[in-house]
Amino acid sequence: MDQIGITAEGPKVSYSFEYMVLQSPWGATTTKAVSPCSLADVMSEQLAKQLDEESNAFPDSPDVNAALDAGEEPETDCDLMLAQMLQMQFDKEFDTQLRTEEKKLNGDSKLSISFENYRMVHPYEDSDSSEDEVDWQDTRHDPYKADKPTTTPRKGFTGKGKNITTKHDEVVCGRKNTARMDNFAPEINVGDGLGMDLKLSNQVYNSLKQHCHSEQRRSARLHDKKEHSTAEQAVDPRTRLLMYKMVNAGVLENINGCISTGKESVVFHADGGSMEEKAVPDECVLKVFKTTLNEFKNRDKYIKDDYRFKERFSKLNPRKIIRLWAEKEMHNLARMKKADIPCPEVVILKKHILVMSFIGKDHVPAPKLKEAMLGSEDMNRAYYQVLHMMQQLYHECNLVHADLSEYNMLWHQGKVWLIDVSQSIEPNHPHGLEFLFRDCRNVSTFFQKGGVSEAMNVYELFNVVSGLQLSGDSEADFLAQTPTYGFHMTVNTDIHLLVTDTFYFKKVGEDQKTSQYLV
Ligand code: ADP
Ligand code: MG
Repeated sequence: MDQIGITAEGPKVSYSFEYMVLQSPWGATTTKAVSPCSLADVMSEQLAKQLDEESNAFPDSPDVNAALDAGEEPETDCDLMLAQMLQMQFDKEFDTQLRTEEKKLNGDSKLSISFENYRMVHPYEDSDSSEDEVDWQDTRHDPYKADKPTTTPRKGFTGKGKNITTKHDEVVCGRKNTARMDNFAPEINVGDGLGMDLKLSNQVYNSLKQHCHSEQRRSARLHDKKEHSTAEQAVDPRTRLLMYKMVNAGVLENINGCISTGKESVVFHADGGSMEEKAVPDECVLKVFKTTLNEFKNRDKYIKDDYRFKERFSKLNPRKIIRLWAEKEMHNLARMKKADIPCPEVVILKKHILVMSFIGKDHVPAPKLKEAMLGSEDMNRAYYQVLHMMQQLYHECNLVHADLSEYNMLWHQGKVWLIDVSQSIEPNHPHGLEFLFRDCRNVSTFFQKGGVSEAMNVYELFNVVSGLQLSGDSEADFLAQTPTYGFHMTVNTDIHLLVTDTFYFKKVGEDQKTSQYLV
């Protein structure tokens, strides 16, 4: 099969495929036309047999290199040898080209730059002795390089009487410094100093060495920058620093791969560490709210009119507003936890990074309801659970999810877990009931399509969740009857919730004012 489309006529080799004709590296093209063939042909036994016969037609070649050097046209029955021949020829040509370039660059200059490191063919390979079984590591010696100066013995000098040379001898030192340049990073071309018997003073050698190090550091930095800008687009250096700090502080043991990259957030998996105040789950997620502000612009309405954040919203710069999203998710999750709604448990909040428990096992996140492929029994169970959770969310947590759908519900341990509550608002939010209606529509559609015969339609579901008695058979009619702005205030409950929430403890006075204003 290897030989398909390849004809060998001495060194004149060409690869012939349907859309591609390669020429031999030394320029000669094939004189034989080879017809292309399909994969089916290639796989056919008949063709295999034919090829086998053809390949047997090649007599053995005893010495490819010798034949090559003698200008003869060796024949080969071996693809590997053919490839090696090609490669060798190609490499030799490359080296010849390199030498020409080197010569041109150096001209008559006393100081020359060597391209030796870029040569493809090692002098030993180049010679006819390639047949010899030599341990190349031991014999590898570059004949183009001058010998390194001999080291001064431990006693610190060589010679006797008047001919004593100490290790401080200027000439010896200079030569040694020149030789030491070989240890510079491979990308630093040091030229052939030894060949020219160059003697570098300590001062010159030290500054060259310093320059070499700073160049290396600089290129590492550049490389770093490039890598980060492509690999972790979502995580800017500030965020990364915050993440490292969490690992340094031991809150997290390790930050692993990214679970999801959304428009507004990036979610990472992490191994939990420990904290003094509370236990950290073994597996955590870091939800990093994106600091690219554009995407948040159209989400303003979720937070701007949320009276809990209204005051602060107007005073903050956009970067800080993003932190509010993380904070909002934290508080909403805390409320849900209190109502025993299955949801991630908050571990810690650092600026725009929210660390919470991982819903899933052994690094595998629980599937979204959308992907969980539930059987009819589980689907029914999930429906009633979601219905109950929506009621709890509304009445006990005083929240409307506002992005509830099969994408923000995970199926784990035989039940539904709610996630992604950064945009959740209170029902008294000017758009609260509108958002609730949308949630109801998503839930109703998903379960009805999923075959849950008892799944209510959106209107029924809305009434059952909210406890309101609205009627209508179009969204506009229905929503027209919803209580207007501030009607559904549950100020007292809310303040109670805020008081129990340590973060808001100090802010009650302020929030109360806002609430009264809203009523
Ligand atoms: P977004 O606002 O980007 O939709 P989400 O909170 O929905 O953010 O998280 C995005 C995805 O990350 C989710 O669909 C889910 O697959 C995964 N995810 C988020 N939080 C958790 C968690 N606590 N445990 C497991 N997976 C999670
Ligand atoms: Mg989501």
